[in-house]
Amino acid sequence: MADAYDVVVIGAGPGGYVAAIRAAQLGFTTACIDDWTRDGGKPAPGGTCTNVGCIPSKALLQSSENYEHAGHGFAAHGIDVKGLSIDVARMLARKDKVVAQNNDGILYLFKKNKVAFHHGRGSFAGKEGDRWRVKVDGANPAELTAAHVIVATGSAPRALPGIPFDNDRILDNAGALAIREVPKRLGVVGAGVIGLEMGSVWRRLGSEVIVLEALPAFLGAADEAVAKEAQKAFAKQGLAIHTGAKITSVKPTKKDVTVAWTDAAGASQTSVFDRLIVSIGRVPHTKGLDAEAVGLKLDERGFVAVDHDCRTNLPNVWAIGDVVRGPMLAHKAEDEGVAVAERIAGQKPHIDFDTIPWVIYTSPEIAWVGRTEQQLKAANIAIRTGSFPFTANGRARAIGEPTGFVKIIADAKTDKVLGMHAIGPMVSELIAEGVMAMEFGASSEDIARICHAHPTLSEATREAALAVDKRTLNL
Ligand SMILES: Cc1cc2nc3c(=O)[nH]c(=O)nc-3n(C[C@H](O)[C@H](O)[C@H](O)COP(=O)(O)OP(=O)(O)OC[C@H]3O[C@@H](n4cnc5c(N)ncnc54)[C@H](O)[C@@H]3O)c2cc1C
Repeated sequence: MADAYDVVVIGAGPGGYVAAIRAAQLGFTTACIDDWTRDGGKPAPGGTCTNVGCIPSKALLQSSENYEHAGHGFAAHGIDVKGLSIDVARMLARKDKVVAQNNDGILYLFKKNKVAFHHGRGSFAGKEGDRWRVKVDGANPAELTAAHVIVATGSAPRALPGIPFDNDRILDNAGALAIREVPKRLGVVGAGVIGLEMGSVWRRLGSEVIVLEALPAFLGAADEAVAKEAQKAFAKQGLAIHTGAKITSVKPTKKDVTVAWTDAAGASQTSVFDRLIVSIGRVPHTKGLDAEAVGLKLDERGFVAVDHDCRTNLPNVWAIGDVVRGPMLAHKAEDEGVAVAERIAGQKPHIDFDTIPWVIYTSPEIAWVGRTEQQLKAANIAIRTGSFPFTANGRARAIGEPTGFVKIIADAKTDKVLGMHAIGPMVSELIAEGVMAMEFGASSEDIARICHAHPTLSEATREAALAVDKRTLNL
């Protein structure tokens, strides 16, 4: 006899596990299936984000930043460090522990919310009247039926055409997070979020890092002023970034990997690396789902085709997160998970794709929400902008991180905030104020009038809002 549920979620990444919890909170009997396995065969819910994405990358970014501060930053505070060294095995073990804490946290949340968790691969097995049949393959096989199915099967790394990952010399994100010794020469293909974050980790630990980016512009999605400041900061740190670089061949051997590429001027170049991280984007993951068996429609790029509300072509089958259109971000996946559970309950939630924040956790951090100055100008929208540098912010000077700025863009007529773009210390946290302002339809004057604690980095946001009206107080 199959176990019957109101909602079955396939995938327990940030999209799937949050959807399952919200569905259970709304009173639905809910099961969640996930196949990620950690050492010892134990389940590892949390998906890419928890196991080989957001969480472990931030753990290594912190470790490497601590190392860099101890080596280069502490001296200015009068703290001398002698005999500094890095034990990569211990650093990786700490990262694994952080990941395991998050896996266990999700298992606890499932129990607390009475979500039935099935460890294994979930696939469509047809219909039984109005209900969907879902099969679980794994150590404890099961047959489930559900009134609603939410597909949250995520994404997988994209390889260079004809050059598969071996996770020895040619690394995907999982391999990049598990390098056992600091490579002397590290190549990174792709100067996106993952490439810049991983390049930063290993550069801080002593690797000579070269980043090869095919696009002509650096950080093309960011506001130009932010991208320019970032390029300057990364160059100063010794991260060599080549834009307009076309890879012509990649040849791994037992001890290194040789990359032939053409630079922006068309000249042939050859670089030899100990390891090569390939971070050129991700592809939707639908393998193993037996989507074809039930006629679940995929689009031409392999994403599950959905409407604005995450409905697929099949009745009561929904899809969320990286496996559908839109930005591949954990918080976008989570918000879609919550929204779908609420739609199943007959509610009318709304997600505004224009207020989804973007963050790059390099040092300095980069964060933005809303459209860039260039996008708004191209759309013929009259704007006023205001910027405030961290060099003029007392807290930034006190913590020794005065690089970067906050920029607020407002509509020239209504003063409504249309974007916030920032580079500098902890801007990953500061960006929430911009998101909040945009969600509430605030004006730059609203931000400028709000009392901000002193001395905080958030005062830079207020000053940028004041700068829109050309009346900064501290510059
Ligand atoms: C290195 C790196 C760093 C990142 N950093 C950030 C960051 O800082 N912030 C951010 O917002 N985003 C970040 N991302 C992106 C983020 O990880 C993804 O956007 C997010 O994980 C997508 O969530 P999801 O639930 O859609 O899918 P996933 O997290 O990919 O989860 C899908 C889950 O479904 C499982 N699954 C797939 N098929 C089946 C099946 N048939 N049966 C059972 N289980 C199945 C998978 O094993 C997986 O556990 C990062 C990604 C990488 C690679």
